[in-house]
Amino acid sequence: MSNKKSGFLPDDAIEKMEEDIPKIVLKQFPSQPILRIGFMEGYEKIDFRVSGKFNLTDLSGEPIFTDVTSHLKWRSLLEQVHGATFIYSVLVTACREEAQALEMVERLRRLHPQVRMQRIGGQLVITGQMVNDNTKYRILAGAFETEAEAKKLLQKFMEEYAPRVIREKVKDPEGKIEVYDAEYDYSAMIENGFRIVPISDESTITLYGVKVGSGFNWESMSDRTYKGIIEIRVGNDARLCGISEITIDRYLKGVVPAEMPAGYPLEALKAQAVAARSEVLAKLGTKHNNDPYDFCANVHCQVYSGTTNEAESTDEAVGSTTGEILYYEDRICDAVYSAVCGGHTEHKQNVWNPPEEPYLQGIYDSKAEKDDLPKLKLTKEKAVRKWVDARPDVFCSLNRDDLPNILAYSKKYFRWEVSYSRKQLEDIIKKRTGEDIGTLYDIILLDRGVSGRLKEIEILGSRKNIRVKKELNIRRALSPTYLRSSCFVIDMEMGEIGTPLGFTFRGAGWGHGVGMCQIGAAIMALDSYKYKDILTHYYKESEVRSTYGPLEP
Ligand SMILES: [Zn+2]
Ligand SMILES: [Zn+2]
Repeated sequence: MSNKKSGFLPDDAIEKMEEDIPKIVLKQFPSQPILRIGFMEGYEKIDFRVSGKFNLTDLSGEPIFTDVTSHLKWRSLLEQVHGATFIYSVLVTACREEAQALEMVERLRRLHPQVRMQRIGGQLVITGQMVNDNTKYRILAGAFETEAEAKKLLQKFMEEYAPRVIREKVKDPEGKIEVYDAEYDYSAMIENGFRIVPISDESTITLYGVKVGSGFNWESMSDRTYKGIIEIRVGNDARLCGISEITIDRYLKGVVPAEMPAGYPLEALKAQAVAARSEVLAKLGTKHNNDPYDFCANVHCQVYSGTTNEAESTDEAVGSTTGEILYYEDRICDAVYSAVCGGHTEHKQNVWNPPEEPYLQGIYDSKAEKDDLPKLKLTKEKAVRKWVDARPDVFCSLNRDDLPNILAYSKKYFRWEVSYSRKQLEDIIKKRTGEDIGTLYDIILLDRGVSGRLKEIEILGSRKNIRVKKELNIRRALSPTYLRSSCFVIDMEMGEIGTPLGFTFRGAGWGHGVGMCQIGAAIMALDSYKYKDILTHYYKESEVRSTYGPLEP
């Protein structure tokens, strides 16, 4: 292990770093926040066409071509290039308070001397007002040249945390890009990247052959049209990447219809718009720390496909709530949501890591008076068995006849069932966890949250037993795709010699179940609740505040 070479900081440098440093401003927006969305990655060439007049500048904004009107297709092509350099370390945990982070560093140094703290994010300022403090402290261990070396360190922190290997960029990528139109009227060789800046608001930029659903089996190619600025630059992977730079409301007009069908009632779409806006601002600066953009365009962040999905109803939902953000006390809510809670939402800390958030605590998905609420004990096996067989009168149960088709379709997600033969499930487990357990004997359901969602299971096999922790890992381990939710019970069909023949999963809901239940929100809207009522039903004690106005026309 060669720590010095790989950029590991000596102890005194760490102490200096940890002295009281004034809070930094992450982003300062004169009016509506601007976001950078990375929507293309890993390209040798990127082709585009611009409708309307535009300027082409280098990355610092220096003009290369000005006042261009061109109906031709343009091409950008990668020439000499070097990828970024990274070091690898273990992300042990993260928190929001500096004092807590320092205390953890001190404690964890007993486990490993190279534990350090890293500050990410910073304050968010819109029109001179600090609207949120997105500062986060990450507790890191080690610093290695290879991922494999860092992986060896994971074990040390497994007991208490959910550690993972992360990389930190220590040197930016570099390269030359040739950009030219189809008739070679314009051509230039540019260092590291360039920006296509439309002069009119109406202009659009079409990108050809954009990979859709990267990393998933539904990957395909399609042409996509974007508004706002497009930046094409050398990515960390020594390939071209494309970034869309747009106002947050423009982004939301693309995101909201991808997250909630545009045919849902307007008040539900407005609740979705405010939730998405809040989530985006709460997470700004804390994801994609090594990338030249704020969010990716995949499910990892939020699915964004330019103007492709835009619809009148969702445009109205975003426009009529412009600047409105959900707050809990003085902080923007990380207003997460999922498709169908199944009747009860889940505590955030049962699905992801601490800290717990007061506004992301599980609720019974109904407006029934407190005294009328059923006394569910969904952390208990017996109660969950009853629960998945019942169709309680909650918002997302869709227990009614007058449903529009777009909602009736979702009935099958409220309660569901899936069966596998033992052999099928053994193959799935092997493929999805990478562990060969041999013959599958049993699956022990160890620990559940308030909505009945499992937090930990143990899979018993002839070769070995494995434990799977966390909602998403459980859903992945037991399905070729993902189980609809981790709120389920298992019925085993036993063979004559005491080995199971098959497994049937019966479950409730679709998704992680934290925060707003989208189907529940749609039903609340049908029942004449307003978007603010919907938001405060799912995000307890939160409040909608106005932070920025509409853009000047
Ligand atoms: Zn992402
Ligand atoms: Zn629900």
